[in-house]
Amino acid sequence: MNLFEVPQPGVAIDGSDDRYPVRRIYCIGRNYGAHAREMGHDPDREPPFYFMKPADAVVENGSSVAYPSRTADFHHEIELVVAIGKRGSNIEKNQALNYVYGYAVGIDFTRRDLQQEAKKLGRPWDTAKGFDESAPISAIHTVTDIGHPASGRIWLAVNDEVRQNGDLSELIWGVAESVAELSTLFRLEPGDLLFTGTPAGVGPVLAGDRITGGIEGIDEIAITIR
Ligand code: MN
Repeated sequence: MNLFEVPQPGVAIDGSDDRYPVRRIYCIGRNYGAHAREMGHDPDREPPFYFMKPADAVVENGSSVAYPSRTADFHHEIELVVAIGKRGSNIEKNQALNYVYGYAVGIDFTRRDLQQEAKKLGRPWDTAKGFDESAPISAIHTVTDIGHPASGRIWLAVNDEVRQNGDLSELIWGVAESVAELSTLFRLEPGDLLFTGTPAGVGPVLAGDRITGGIEGIDEIAITIR
């Protein structure tokens, strides 16, 4: 008998009744050149860097998300999400795809005003990135079903108006490199998700907005803001 009931965060798995139990959520910053430039950085000179969200920040596809507190600039970032399926540290790049269980479409919701303030003051990004309901995600599609998509349109629309429109082939650090590099910093385990960064076109959303997005060959996602 446990003192408290603490639910295990999880993500649907396409074609299965099983759930993918979420252990950690890693995210990469500035992984598409055009987005790095829109945020005022030169993408060519920066190695990948990582930040985290709590596991229970995941939100089921088709849900609504509450407009978060303490922000007036709540931004969408559509991203390819990698689901890790095997334990590994210091993984070689040419082995890294063997550690991937599947892929999903996610949104890295961001309190942009708090992030800009944190950058200016040299403070951590937790309040800007790791808040409640900040990680909506589609079902995971297994590598067995869809392989390892290296190209394909990635897009996001707000109230049917397309705001982000890129291609997975534009990733500065591809999935294999990103997983290999991350595994030099943390021991990867099944249940670890990696949000791989967003293409250009990030911007604000408001209560009442309907956000749709997708990645060709993977899935689509729909979230409303309440
Ligand atoms: Mn992001």
